[in-house]
Amino acid sequence: MKKLWAWIKSIFHKQPVQPEPTPEPTPIPPAPTPIPMPGKVPLVVCKESSWFNDFDKQVLKDAVAGLNHIFSTKQFQTELMSRTYTEDFGEGGAGIWKRMVAGDQLSPEDDLGELDFKIVMYNSPWSRVVGYTYLESIVINVNRKFFATPSSVASNIAHELMHTLGYTHDDGFDDSVPYQMNEIIDVLWEQLNLG
Ligand SMILES: [Zn+2]
Repeated sequence: MKKLWAWIKSIFHKQPVQPEPTPEPTPIPPAPTPIPMPGKVPLVVCKESSWFNDFDKQVLKDAVAGLNHIFSTKQFQTELMSRTYTEDFGEGGAGIWKRMVAGDQLSPEDDLGELDFKIVMYNSPWSRVVGYTYLESIVINVNRKFFATPSSVASNIAHELMHTLGYTHDDGFDDSVPYQMNEIIDVLWEQLNLG
């Protein structure tokens, strides 16, 4: 009987065993690699908004969150360091990084350690100006006409924040720090799938 049982079992065991299909590994989104530099990453803080409705507030919130995410990634540091700039006080990307982390803005209202700003909405439907600020102010004025998506708003805020750190584009737009910051945010927003 035992032999018979063994024989029956052996028949079943001889059935070719189909290998289990290997399940596709679930892709794990790469976590942002921390910046190799020790210490902090730049921190953007919106202190106050004026003339914002609920929709605007949500767009602003998403824009600031996106910026803070971008600034904490290695990709940002790589982009920043791989470019050359005009009107950069001769300090290049490393200097920009240092100023951003220190949050040392020109305005007397500035809180150190963060890139803080107040934002005011204005209505200028015929203007091509997206927004503006003054070097010694942390107030960013934004034209409602261009206040549409978190990505475009983030790009604009980043540009204006560079002005609050003292960076200008008097000699030409393209290679200046504020305009290259627009490009960096546009590129990384897409690359990091921030929506
Ligand atoms: Zn500008």
